[in-house]
Amino acid sequence: VFFCPSCRRRFSTSQPRWRCDCHSYLLGEFNASLSHAPSGEDQRSIWRFRESFGLSGGARPVTLGEGSTPLVTRRIAGREVLCKLDYLCPTGSYKDRGSSVMITKLKEWGIGEIVDDSSGNAGASVAAYAAAAGIRCRIFVPTSTSAGKAAQIAMYGADLVRVPGTREDTERAALQAASDTFYASHNWSPHFLVGMKTVAYEIVEQLDGKAPDWVVTPVGGGSLLLGLYDGFRDMLRAGWITDVPRIAAVQSTRCAPVYEAWRKNLCDVPAVAKGETAAEGIAIAAPVRGRSILEAIRGSKGVVYTVEEDAIWQMTRSLAEQSLYVEPTAAAAPAAISSMVADGLLQADERVAIVLTGIGLKATDKIVEHFFFEGRRGNNAPPR
Ligand SMILES: *Cc1c(COP(=O)(O)O)cnc(C)c1O
Ligand SMILES: [Zn+2]
Repeated sequence: VFFCPSCRRRFSTSQPRWRCDCHSYLLGEFNASLSHAPSGEDQRSIWRFRESFGLSGGARPVTLGEGSTPLVTRRIAGREVLCKLDYLCPTGSYKDRGSSVMITKLKEWGIGEIVDDSSGNAGASVAAYAAAAGIRCRIFVPTSTSAGKAAQIAMYGADLVRVPGTREDTERAALQAASDTFYASHNWSPHFLVGMKTVAYEIVEQLDGKAPDWVVTPVGGGSLLLGLYDGFRDMLRAGWITDVPRIAAVQSTRCAPVYEAWRKNLCDVPAVAKGETAAEGIAIAAPVRGRSILEAIRGSKGVVYTVEEDAIWQMTRSLAEQSLYVEPTAAAAPAAISSMVADGLLQADERVAIVLTGIGLKATDKIVEHFFFEGRRGNNAPPR
């Protein structure tokens, strides 16, 4: 069933629905069991974990082979850090895990047309999976979105709508359009979160059944953070692991509503004013699932950090020099590790994992502008 964390109402999942009648987001309570039984064709996708999705009905998965991404070790802030290369998913971001399950459910519901709003990666992912499912799709993005992401969305055949103004203006435009179609948003869909749990399962699998001590993750709308937390808790309940990793959630100083709420010990996340940031994928001024995000951070004995623009760009380059080419948003979380070290949070023997969320190729315009044509360098010489 779906249940509402605000008014506690419950709804059957047999009918299409993306929010509660009270307008809160919904959470999923799915009859799931974790099992290690990969089934033939699904071996190389998240669908080998389908028992844990708790999907009723035998819907055929809409899959592009998402998940099963590498876990490699790199040196960050003087420490060995486990890097989960989720930017290698089919559309270039981790969002494919969530989209695969969400679109599968929409198809089962018989939905023929959807809208979503996105800073880019979610839109590209939803557009790709909608194309695979034969669902018509309209994606709203802010005009500031990286050109690579906008082009990708349109190339998948989605109807791309650019909205001037803020990310929040984009959301409003999509919601308006959703009134006569279906709002298929990663920020609202409980099924999207179900798909996200697989990133936690895979990390533990790749560490031979052990959970890391820390997971450092970017947080915007919280789908990655909540998926990680739910996934680790599934494994705790199933007795696979003995502790849930502590979550370090990271935001840009230019848009840090979760940090503000956490610091002030609030239960909900009030909206904040925000500035321009290179971390466009996490610039969410008012996260829909704010309450659940704070519960997950506190429930894991976690922390929240913010990072400056310079640190994000430096980490983007430092990762690339170690052969990991990610977009700036994906560099925000590792950029916080030096502060965690300085604060004495990380013990020498503790294992730290990060999820690298988005590929650098989509952000070529912004990377070129920053490193090669920026005014104060005055020329197009390579960085440094
Ligand atoms: C969407 C996105 C995030 C943030 O994810 P949320 O689930 O909204 O918190 C981080 N990095 C990249 C590259 C993204 O596209
Ligand atoms: Zn409600």
